[in-house]
Amino acid sequence: MSDTKPDLAGIVKMSREFANRHRVDKGAKFKLGKCDPADTGHLDDEDKRRAQEALAIGREALAQLQDKLYAQDRWSVLLVFQAMDAAGKDGVIKHVMSGVNPQGCEVHSFKAPTTEELDHDYLWRCAKRLPERGRIGIFNRSYYEEVLVVKVHQGILAAQKLPPSLVTKRVWDERYEDIRGFERYLSRNGTVVRKFFLHVSRAEQKERFLERIHEPEKNWKFSAADVRERAYWKDYMAAYETMIRETATPHSPWYVVPADNKWYTRLVVAAAVVDALASLDLHYPVIDAKQRVELAAARKSLLAEKK
Ligand code: ATP
Ligand code: MG
Repeated sequence: MSDTKPDLAGIVKMSREFANRHRVDKGAKFKLGKCDPADTGHLDDEDKRRAQEALAIGREALAQLQDKLYAQDRWSVLLVFQAMDAAGKDGVIKHVMSGVNPQGCEVHSFKAPTTEELDHDYLWRCAKRLPERGRIGIFNRSYYEEVLVVKVHQGILAAQKLPPSLVTKRVWDERYEDIRGFERYLSRNGTVVRKFFLHVSRAEQKERFLERIHEPEKNWKFSAADVRERAYWKDYMAAYETMIRETATPHSPWYVVPADNKWYTRLVVAAAVVDALASLDLHYPVIDAKQRVELAAARKSLLAEKK
């Protein structure tokens, strides 16, 4: 990080390089074991102290790009967040998106499905919440739960009201295939999809759960069920690895974001979102000759008004 504040083009370039370290856009050879949850790249303690400042610069760039996204009204952006409990999804969403215009951004959290949702295919509830053109949509959990918690606890699948003849041993492969198809469809229709796995270690998760128990103002976040889920850690990591291998594509990449250090997680996500927006041909709508004449006439009439 240097002392002078770079221009938008410089911020975009830096963001791309920074986020690319954690980008997976060809899944085939992906190995989760090679990703260190405590990784902070080449950043040192000095950079850590200045991370707030860098995040603020990223947020400002994001706000400028979002303004064009909204005005242009052609593209939409879908940001999907998946993680184990206490990895920091909520904090990332809060810190990274705090500079954007709330009118152009919507967050949806997906919990265990309701009975109405179970009466539909699993993409239905997510498809209803996709961002409109010009908007950024954030999914806090998503259809990916269908190949994560549902795969780890197969009793959930049994309760999904699917016709039994459709639940074969190919069910997971079919889900990956359908998710890939869904995201390809979205990208062909102008929705840019970026997916984030916040990769926290089991040891750091334990520390964060203990904090939730010890600090009264964090007690509300504590859930005994989350602690019980730790028993399935290996199964979850296997499910995450396969999910990334099967669904990381150039048009819908995953970012495997080290999540043991919150300051670093937020910087990587902000950089990846800046990169996603900057990769689009965003510009303010250009007015034609007729509209220019109308603007001139309106100006004349406003200036001619008596006080
Ligand atoms: P936080 O704990 O920070 O409030 P959260 O996303 O963990 O956020 P919870 O209400 O604690 O929210 O948990 C939501 C639960 O819903 C998770 O355990 C998740 O695995 C589960 N869930 C989400 N989608 C599905 C699904 N399709 N089928 C079954 N369970 C699901
Ligand atoms: Mg939870």
